[in-house]
Amino acid sequence: MKSATAGEVVEILHRRYPPETAQEWDRVGVALGDLSGSAKRIYFAVDVLPETVAEAIEWGADFFIAHHPLFLFELAEPAPGEEPLPIAPWKSQLAAQLEISGAVLLILHTNADVANPGVSDALAQALGLINVVEMPEGLGRVGEVVRPVPLQKFVEQISRSIPVGANGVRATGDSQQLIKRIALCGGSGDDRFEIVQGLGVDAYLTSDLKHHRVSEALAGGAPVLIDAGHFATEWPWLPQAARLLAEDLEECGYAQPEMKISKISTDPWRVR
Ligand SMILES: [Zn+2]
Repeated sequence: MKSATAGEVVEILHRRYPPETAQEWDRVGVALGDLSGSAKRIYFAVDVLPETVAEAIEWGADFFIAHHPLFLFELAEPAPGEEPLPIAPWKSQLAAQLEISGAVLLILHTNADVANPGVSDALAQALGLINVVEMPEGLGRVGEVVRPVPLQKFVEQISRSIPVGANGVRATGDSQQLIKRIALCGGSGDDRFEIVQGLGVDAYLTSDLKHHRVSEALAGGAPVLIDAGHFATEWPWLPQAARLLAEDLEECGYAQPEMKISKISTDPWRVR
């Protein structure tokens, strides 16, 4: 059976995660690498950082799939009269290391958020939610726990189900209140409080929540807000994407590549 080239793998992935469905500010797609090369060892990580690049190269990856872009605002068109953002030396260094190793770097970011199944479906599945449906515009999901559970128990359940960092899982509300219907959005979701409020959910699980936004949302009638950390809420997408890619490659008649899902936590918070 013939192996797919890197370009063919990109094409297959983009059927599930079309680049044109990404947010306008986002930078998804092939960041670097030669698409005519092989894709026999595919590595998955949330972030392109020194530790994940080192792991990928050591493993011999020829294809690196990352959720977060290595270059984002650096590639944006500068405002009139302004200089473009310089590229940090450590980023150029990582790009050079990947280039020398011969790997392709593909970013699947907000196009993976809105995909179905996508980032929030993987999170819902990791938590064992049922009856999962889309939140407006495809970003985020609403699902239910099998049996209503006190908030304290639900928070403990979350911390056992996803790779939570040193910040743990934090929730507003009362530890004993029952949670049944949950809205969730993997990654930063503090721009969706107003939408969530109209959904009749008991809780909203996301990450990167800040004092003022949270206290004002609660005063305005928001449901319980749960912050489980950015990395932890997005990591479950990696095994889901790997599984779907394996299925798609099989369907197209290609040999199965080796795949590695990084278990390195790139949650920056380590000590508490
Ligand atoms: Zn993210």
